Amino acid sequence: MALIDFHCHLDLYPDPAAVVRQAVSDGVYILSVTTTPSAFAGTAALVRAGGRIRTALGLHPELVAARQKELPLFFKLLPETSYVGEVGLDGSPAHRDTLDVQARVLVAILDACAAAGGKTISLHSRGATDLLLDLIEFEPEAGRFVLHWFSAKPAIVKRAADLGCWFSIGATMLASKTGRAAIDAMPADRILPETDGPFGSMAGRPVFPWEAMATYRALAAVRGVPVEQIESELTDNFRALVVATPASEPVPNSSGAHIH
Ligand code: MN
Repeated sequence: MALIDFHCHLDLYPDPAAVVRQAVSDGVYILSVTTTPSAFAGTAALVRAGGRIRTALGLHPELVAARQKELPLFFKLLPETSYVGEVGLDGSPAHRDTLDVQARVLVAILDACAAAGGKTISLHSRGATDLLLDLIEFEPEAGRFVLHWFSAKPAIVKRAADLGCWFSIGATMLASKTGRAAIDAMPADRILPETDGPFGSMAGRPVFPWEAMATYRALAAVRGVPVEQIESELTDNFRALVVATPASEPVPNSSGAHIH
């Protein structure tokens, strides 16, 4: 059974190496997102190249105001990965006052992704779904947008779907009526499972990537179909997105640059 967790913060568990060991042993496919450019190298070093885990370069909107000085590092590291996240906007009361700088940083990141030929981007949008869609609508060349935990009204979900967005959903979303209404409005062939661990929780403690099956089961229950059908659909979706994601450019090899 292919198990996928398309948004997980491996570096934020108390023992990241142990979580990676278990996830690798269980064969979980993971998009390992980061919250600051300075966390990218260490998080990427947790996993072996060529395995089932990809590390995304991120700058979390809740940290943008404090860490915008890391933006040059973000641009420097961008050629090293095909995946960007977690980036986006947070308009919740605690972060609303920094929305201006968040939007400025997000536009700069989307610009850079477009200039790099397009990336696959995991986006946060709490309390700012309309503004987020406005910004990505201006940058279609930035790549493939995966809206993480996108709990918006069905009409807004439809707008996102019309813009070509993908969606990553978790068990917590499926447990709420609003979340289920949003998921109902998502195209079934653009949905991916996520845990958002360790922020996502299960039974009152942080969820682990190998527990993403809870999302499969909840989705199967909501749709009234066997979990095997959901597994096959989500695997197809994941494959389609990975195939659409170009490999990151090789790091320029200066020693080879002058050979004629
Ligand atoms: Mn997250």
